Order: sequence, then structure tokens, then C-alpha cells
Amino acid sequence: MEVSIKKGAFHKPESPDEKPYLIGSRCSSCGYMCFPKKEVCVKCVRDDCMEEKKFGPYARLDSYAVIQVAPTGFTAPYIQAYVVLEDGPKIFTLITGCEPRDDALEPGQKMELVIEKIRDDEKGNSLIGWKFKPVEEKNKS
Ligand SMILES: [Zn+2]
Repeated sequence: MEVSIKKGAFHKPESPDEKPYLIGSRCSSCGYMCFPKKEVCVKCVRDDCMEEKKFGPYARLDSYAVIQVAPTGFTAPYIQAYVVLEDGPKIFTLITGCEPRDDALEPGQKMELVIEKIRDDEKGNSLIGWKFKPVEEKNKS
């Protein structure tokens, strides 16, 4: 069975021509944006101004790290990163679709959202969530 790692945080496409997106919040008063959703704006400290906002499917890579020692349920090595969502905030994410090497990616690189399995849970369910993959390979020639 597929289980969402965070309920209501993303949309998984049901057909090939649909794009996935993330569901976060935007403050209608000051413009503050975040993902996942928040009830209260951290800048205005008000709970009446947060609106739901869709982000994605593209982002720019901010920084990344190759993880050599995996927590339970993960397979090392893998890449975790911060990406800046198009018209959105900077978020933490796992990276897929490239070799888990120190030189695999370049900050500023265009990344695309994918919704896929993150890991198995204790009951054998597939936990699905968001990851980003490079749109183009680095130094493609
Ligand atoms: Zn605000």
C-alpha cells in the first residue's frame, strides 16, 4: 500500500500529462511563503492570513550534500538538498535521478519535482513523498 509521508502536502499525478505539485502556504498580508503548510504566518504572527498555494514542479538547486550513512529505511549513499521553489520558498528535499556523488550537481541547476517512494515503513507500506531530480545532466555534451 502507498502511504503519503505527509498528508495533504503534495499532489501525485494520476496521468502522464499531469505534473505533480507541492501544497504550501502564502501569507496574503506580507507575502511570506512556506512549505509544508503553516496555519500561522511567522512574520505577521497572525492565523487569519495564510492561504493555500501550489508550488512546482520546478525549482533551483541551492545546496546539497551526499549522505554516506543512512538512517533506518534509507539506502546510502544518497543526496539531500535545499532547493528554491519557482515563485516559492527554499525547502529541504531528497534528490533522485543522478549519481550520489559530490560533483553530481551544481548550485543554480534547474530541478524538477517527482513524487515517489521515499522508503518502506515498518508494516511494509511504501511511504511516498517529494524528491527533486535534475532537469538536465550537468556538463552534458
Ligand atoms: Zn504574513
